[in-house]
Amino acid sequence: MSKIRVLADHVANQIAAGEVVERPASVAKELVENSIDAGSKRIDIEIEAGGRRLLKISDDGEGMVRDDAVLAFERHATSKISGAEDLSAIATLGFRGEALASIASVAKVELTTKTEDGTAATKVTIEGGRMRDVKDAAHPRGTTIAVRDIFFNVPARRKFLRSEATETFHLTNLVTHYALAHPEIAFTFTSNGREVIRASLAKDLRERAYQLFGEEFLENLLEVNGGNPQVARVIGYVSAPRDRRTSRDSQYLFVNRRFVRDRMIGRALSEGYRSILPYGVYPAALLFIETPLAEVDVNVHPAKTEVRFRRSAAVADAVREAVKAALAAAGYVREEREVVAPVYEEQKPTATVAVGGLGTQTAAAFTAPVFEVERPPRISPEVQQSRMAFASLMSSVEEALEEELTEPQQPEVRTDFGLTTPEVAQPTAVPAVVATVPRSSPLPPLNSAEKIVRQVTSEEVSPNIRPLGQLEESFIIATDEEGLLLIDQHVAHERVLFDKYRALESERRVESQQLLVPETFDLTPAQAAVFDQLAPELEVYGFELMRLSGRTVAIKATPADLPAGEARNMLAELLETVDPEKKNSARETMRDEIAASLACHAAIKVNMPLAPEKMRWLIDRLLQTSSPTTCPHGRPVILRLKMRDILKSFHRI
Ligand code: ADP
Ligand code: MG
Repeated sequence: MSKIRVLADHVANQIAAGEVVERPASVAKELVENSIDAGSKRIDIEIEAGGRRLLKISDDGEGMVRDDAVLAFERHATSKISGAEDLSAIATLGFRGEALASIASVAKVELTTKTEDGTAATKVTIEGGRMRDVKDAAHPRGTTIAVRDIFFNVPARRKFLRSEATETFHLTNLVTHYALAHPEIAFTFTSNGREVIRASLAKDLRERAYQLFGEEFLENLLEVNGGNPQVARVIGYVSAPRDRRTSRDSQYLFVNRRFVRDRMIGRALSEGYRSILPYGVYPAALLFIETPLAEVDVNVHPAKTEVRFRRSAAVADAVREAVKAALAAAGYVREEREVVAPVYEEQKPTATVAVGGLGTQTAAAFTAPVFEVERPPRISPEVQQSRMAFASLMSSVEEALEEELTEPQQPEVRTDFGLTTPEVAQPTAVPAVVATVPRSSPLPPLNSAEKIVRQVTSEEVSPNIRPLGQLEESFIIATDEEGLLLIDQHVAHERVLFDKYRALESERRVESQQLLVPETFDLTPAQAAVFDQLAPELEVYGFELMRLSGRTVAIKATPADLPAGEARNMLAELLETVDPEKKNSARETMRDEIAASLACHAAIKVNMPLAPEKMRWLIDRLLQTSSPTTCPHGRPVILRLKMRDILKSFHRI
């Protein structure tokens, strides 16, 4: 007896539904795409109970005549392509003709639709893939489709649905994506009767982003406009490096206005931030990749969230370079990374790095990233540190002043405010007025200056920075034409060393120092797994490592400037933080991470007195780096108090 039989349509559809309908958001995705393909100007989405009980989508698109409305639920029924040749250049979001069939096989669906010249609307009712009813109804031009009780007939799938909140989150995220991709369409999204999104017709992406995210989000975005029309144009916005997120949730990526989950694009985006954002920290992005239709295959996955590029490396390059150009235009990195070896060879004069190309062209669009200290939720620990640094400057000024005030009778008053000054401080006579201030009188608060301290961007760095002294043996106080500068000595040196290590590595001129007695240490099993992949990369930087028996490792040599005692810490830290998965995908990125870690461990620490010559040296080197104003971990290096603001604060102007 034969054993193979062809499955009934509704069973086949249910199987196919497994791939298309994963959760309410995937149903909404298909329906919204259909509405967009139908040329709608308005799409209203309404859900109840996270979309499980009800998911209703109304549009004002072209609608369907009765025959089409029935046919639409057949598998492989589509109006969007007619033959295999069309697959190579798909201009619509849908094309597989299986979404409605799949959805109807696992839910109770009611579709009401009318075309422009149809006399009546048609209402089709279908449940678990079985047509229940087709009749006339009232409906304006367009289509309303209500999907109820998803997976009512597939208990196994129902169990996999997550909480109402999770499903609602996915739905909101989905509508946000489509609303961003289509400013020309008005969207509303209502959950359990409460309006979550209302976006009226917008003239462009910027206006739409404003409607969805508000002003603050926009303020922090840098415009991206790069790539090339043959391979990929890259348009949109990315966040400034100080705006850090620990997930990719704020990355909205599109290919030909199709919302995609593409790891390659995400990675290329991160690569654009290479050396200014650490691992595990992600920028926010609204990025639209526009490619010629023939350059991209969208028929990769039934849910159409994955695409395949014909020339994916070229697309990745376009994304990375466009992002870098945007960062360069805003002064976060320099356009060209021509940091060559002579830069840190003492005898050679400074090799200036060209800030050319896009950087200068778009300089007009450049907005100084004002160091917004008045928004507590946005402030990262690093920024907090800088704030504290400044606050401590203020408090030590206060302290010093206090000293002056409380000891007016003393002839010799410290005027260096506890700073190490290259010039010998000249004792100054106490101004008479000071002596008249009662000892107990408290100082008025000085911290209003906090608001006018800015992070310096590399566009604004002047070559004439003059160190004056050190604050708390941690920050160099300096001046330039613009005013007073505070330079974090540790991160400044970190940047110098990072560039140096990267340059030496790319020229294969790394120097190592042999240890007299090799240091040994034991790895945990997890570290051991990473070690074998990491070791060859570390050797590129001058480490000599040897795997002894079991999980014991010996360090025989270290990179030239790394203090021997730091090598072990650094290795342990890298073994913990390097993600073995990422390592395979982007070796360059991993090398950056090693260089950043080396730089951090070898750099001058805080709480370390620096001689004036050393400060001078550090500033000179810093100015020659690829990005003098941000450390390899994305922290600011220089803060500025502008002369103008100083004068203003003293009411001199
Ligand atoms: P696909 O979108 O891949 O063509 P679907 O199963 O999603 O397949 O839809 C089948 C067909 O139903 C579409 O090709 C389209 O002609 C029609 N259709 C679906 N939704 C709408 C809508 N909202 N407005 C007009 N026509 C629609
Ligand atoms: Mg479709």
